[in-house]
Amino acid sequence: MPILSPLPGPVGAHSASWQIELREAIRSGEELCRRLRLPAAAASSAAEQDFSVFAPESYVSRMRPGDPADPLLRQVLAVGEETRPVAGFHHDPVGDRAALRQTGLIHKYQGRALLVTTGICAVHCRYCFRRHFPYAEQTAKDMDAALAAIRSDDSIEEVLLSGGDPLTLSDHRIASLVERLAEIGHVRRLRFHSRLPIVIPSRVTSELVDVLRGTRLTTWMVVHANHAREICDQTVAALGRLVDRGVPVLNQAVLLRGVNDSVEAQCELATALVDARVTPYYLHLLDKVAGAAHFDVPESKGQELIQAMRRQLPGYAVPRLVREVPGEPGKRFLA
Ligand SMILES: *Cc1c(COP(=O)(O)O)cnc(C)c1O
Ligand code: SF4
Repeated sequence: MPILSPLPGPVGAHSASWQIELREAIRSGEELCRRLRLPAAAASSAAEQDFSVFAPESYVSRMRPGDPADPLLRQVLAVGEETRPVAGFHHDPVGDRAALRQTGLIHKYQGRALLVTTGICAVHCRYCFRRHFPYAEQTAKDMDAALAAIRSDDSIEEVLLSGGDPLTLSDHRIASLVERLAEIGHVRRLRFHSRLPIVIPSRVTSELVDVLRGTRLTTWMVVHANHAREICDQTVAALGRLVDRGVPVLNQAVLLRGVNDSVEAQCELATALVDARVTPYYLHLLDKVAGAAHFDVPESKGQELIQAMRRQLPGYAVPRLVREVPGEPGKRFLA
């Protein structure tokens, strides 16, 4: 199964507001087009067969109604171009299946291991390199085995919590995972990779921040925004709640045609991030995943954008341009 969506249906009496938002999210291109006053023909149900549409209202509310080229809409609406096979675009573009040490643990780089905590995301990004990743329901036994593998390898200093999106887990589940990782003596740092602080800012509750700070481990947060319009007032406040409490926040973005492939769009994104006290970390070239070819931007264009940003922005506001190359010991730096 590819990236999963949260279950629809009634919510429990004690659900947090972010959990209700996930349940009530838009789940089809047709519904998304209706919400934004676009013709239903803008969506492709054939593309949805392969990877479903999923977008919560707080994210959709930042889109411009009636604009089929809206940079936020483009990231989530399934379109006909996805179904066209393009040479060089594959189902496992970054070699994660080969590096999957066992269910849920990807250990590719020195000192860092990536734990797949869930297959569920708070938004389905059409360009996602994991859109075809074979997520299975993570069982308690899989998690035990993944933690045992981390325990048995004392070269692992940092554990990346990824998915899917780890912040779709309840605070209770996150707390128990953090506690178990903190029991492993050689683990020093945790790094959450999550799009939730951007997409549903109410996810950053004080209880969550308590969990992130209430451990001997140093916790870093890497969020994922691709366009300045994703950084709305509520998102700035959510990011501020992390930074105020001492959780350093980085952003990674993907360079996407028709979304952020201009100097202006990149400078606006970087400025919005540093104003929110978030450091732009990586600008990824698109992973060549089947269904995403229409987002591809050439490497030379990425390098030009970074050069232009260096002329206009403070050094700390310019991300590193990277590409993931299967089999290499880290991301490949391109600028
Ligand atoms: C990107 C990635 C990391 C982290 O790399 P950094 O350069 O430290 O951000 C770790 N493990 C996997 C599998 C990755 O894809
Ligand atoms: S890019 Fe991240 S948030 Fe988006 S679908 Fe992929 S894993 Fe989920």
